[in-house]
Amino acid sequence: MSRELIDLAVERLREDFPNKSRSWVRRALVRFMKGTVREFNENTWVVKGLTGLGDKYPTYVVRFKDGRYYCSCFESSWGLRRKSEICTHIAAVILYRNYRKLDSDVYASVINIECVDYYLEIPSELKGKVRVVKSIRVIDSTDKLNPRHRVTYVIYASEPMEVRAKLVCDGDVRELSLKLSRTRRYIVELLTRD
Ligand SMILES: [Zn+2]
Repeated sequence: MSRELIDLAVERLREDFPNKSRSWVRRALVRFMKGTVREFNENTWVVKGLTGLGDKYPTYVVRFKDGRYYCSCFESSWGLRRKSEICTHIAAVILYRNYRKLDSDVYASVINIECVDYYLEIPSELKGKVRVVKSIRVIDSTDKLNPRHRVTYVIYASEPMEVRAKLVCDGDVRELSLKLSRTRRYIVELLTRD
């Protein structure tokens, strides 16, 4: 496993659950790093219990249904645990899924520009198929009303393709033909991180 990917997967988990404690995150990470999560099917995972983390059962089953996660430990802890609680078995599954997603292949093209005004347009029929993310940094704010930016656009899709795009940078309009080539999902994340 790559450290960089693990860090990103943890970062996503923290973003999704900002109120959870550091120990909650740490326990989820221990479960994930020990390889206790196995995918059973698309919406079901089996998580091996760890006695060191207070588990009483050898395995737990985590399910994703109607936009929510459910864990078998909800039924096995004297009914005291609230069903709305996100246990660390679930958190470990989320980490596992985050990691798998970041580790997957995507097809991407990168554009770097420096302008005051900028705009990237992709054909509307590609919306939903092609995604565009950008990262913006102010590099010159001498003119406070018109600061100059460094902009990185990442255009990506789940399959290789060629995308026609229109790039506008300070009145300069360019028609581009972007060839999306294979990379990994986490590279896209790293490129567009602030
Ligand atoms: Zn649980």
